Amino acid sequence: SKKFIATPSRTKEILSTYSFHFKKSLGQNFLVDANILENILKQAGIDKGAGAIEIGPGIGALTEQLAIHADKVLAFEIDQRLLPILNSTLSDYNNVTIIHQDILKADVRTAIEEYFHPDQPVHLVANLPYYITTPILMKLLMEKLPVASFTVMIQKEVAERMAAQPNSKSYGSLTIAIQYYTNAKVVMNVPKQVFMPQPNVDSAILRLVTREEPPVEVDDEDFFFTLVQACFAQRRKTLRNNLLSHFKQKYDKEEISLLLEEIAIDGTRRGESLSMEEFARMANAFYRNRK
Ligand code: SAM
Repeated sequence: SKKFIATPSRTKEILSTYSFHFKKSLGQNFLVDANILENILKQAGIDKGAGAIEIGPGIGALTEQLAIHADKVLAFEIDQRLLPILNSTLSDYNNVTIIHQDILKADVRTAIEEYFHPDQPVHLVANLPYYITTPILMKLLMEKLPVASFTVMIQKEVAERMAAQPNSKSYGSLTIAIQYYTNAKVVMNVPKQVFMPQPNVDSAILRLVTREEPPVEVDDEDFFFTLVQACFAQRRKTLRNNLLSHFKQKYDKEEISLLLEEIAIDGTRRGESLSMEEFARMANAFYRNRK
């Protein structure tokens, strides 16, 4: 029977055949565990009708499974040295296209339009380079791409922040940003031992399902996100004090208290206790009274 790429022995063999040396600066930690891969696939909502996008295929461990389970795979890889390797490790599959590009600079929308059928659901599945997890996800979400879900392996702490609930240590402006666009859930914690080389941090599989509509109505998205950030600027400060520092001289203490009173939010609360709906109500109130 055929041996998949995602095993320690096959991975070592490929690395030695090509004299490949990991670049730490590119977050290269390759998956070498078939069970974890199977779990990712199970969560990802992939079937033979689906399109799959991968970021950072490495030597093809996950790409191979996507090629088997999806209709087509489009993968973005920044490291030129991996292209000939992928060309060989994935030579059995004719439904994979590798684009040699930095995902942060890529025109993903055009790539999707050119590569997938317009009626085909597209899912993103990736073991992300940890040094740029948040920029990658925020870029893709803010572009409002036609991607139905994101199933990604990322650093455990970051996954927890993205999927957090109010009144927890992990809840913050990143939580609001991610959950404005998606339903977020940590589906599995993953130990360091399943990677080669092992990273310094623990990992988790995060599943994001794109929302059809934002969960709240905000008058101005930039204003909303900036205000949310301001409310977490100093986590131990009250809402009112964070708002006072944010707006500088524009509003005095009384004005802020009055505005908050009008929308029934207690200014002595802390940012981490506010729901997305309360943040939206607050942002809209300040936006409508902006100076
Ligand atoms: N998918 C493979 C696996 O699971 O074994 C490799 C995952 S490894 C954690 C991250 C991959 O992302 C590496 O192949 C790395 O070269 C690639 N990468 C790093 N930065 C990138 C970027 N800006 N754009 C595209 N790929 C990138």
